[in-house]
Amino acid sequence: MRLDDAPESSNVTDSRGMGGKLAIGGGAGGILLLILGLVFGVDLGGGKRAAGPAGPPDEKTLTFTKKVLGTTEEVWNEEFRKMGKRYKPPHLELFADRVRTGCGVAPSSVGPFYCPADEKVYIDPTFFDELEQQLGGSKADFSKAYVIAHEVGHHVQKLLGFHARANNNADSVRLELQADYLAGVWAHHGQKKFNFIEPGDVKAALTSANAIGNDRLQKRAGGFVHPEKFTHGTARQRVYFFKRGLDTGDASMATLQKFFEVPMRGNGELEDF
Ligand SMILES: [Zn+2]
Repeated sequence: MRLDDAPESSNVTDSRGMGGKLAIGGGAGGILLLILGLVFGVDLGGGKRAAGPAGPPDEKTLTFTKKVLGTTEEVWNEEFRKMGKRYKPPHLELFADRVRTGCGVAPSSVGPFYCPADEKVYIDPTFFDELEQQLGGSKADFSKAYVIAHEVGHHVQKLLGFHARANNNADSVRLELQADYLAGVWAHHGQKKFNFIEPGDVKAALTSANAIGNDRLQKRAGGFVHPEKFTHGTARQRVYFFKRGLDTGDASMATLQKFFEVPMRGNGELEDF
């Protein structure tokens, strides 16, 4: 991924230096309120995470995150303008270990997520390290950007009123697939504006997405129930809708509504459209 031409967002905060000092006040109840935006799921390595305190916050990750968020701001500003609406960009906080949010206190093990109550995206970048291990160094950049774009997709959903329509597990699947689609729409327009996709990027991102659909996660879960992890749609559909957004760039309300209109099959897949 090439971000030379990307603008840096001013909406990123970095609280990684403060990790581990938070008192857990909300308890488990607070944690359950999170909208879990687990793009790539959590604990890909079977629960093993790099142990010990992280080193000093690295500037590289901060700059990368600011640039990717900057591209989402440019793309969604314009797409909202086309709809006759105004885009209010979300904030993004990089944190370590755990973080206090408008949705409760969250441990980094929940993976990247979006909190609708404070309209912020939260990411512990050690999650990015897992993608790097999976894909190999810089090949993971576009997959990381996809994670951010997916979470920003949840913010777009909130602004457009889709969050308010989701009341059950089936609706969560619809929201997650739509967020993948919105990440695809970002990639489509971002590519036109910033020419940021390099050869192999899309394939690597799709490989990641394919590795973490519900069905695969279920296999990895090994009998232990993680209900919050089963709301992302099957791997095939995640890839399908990301690609669909990437190919069409179509963020019209008519298309976005379809995610809530088409029937859901018994296998937990939406009917393709
Ligand atoms: Zn999500």
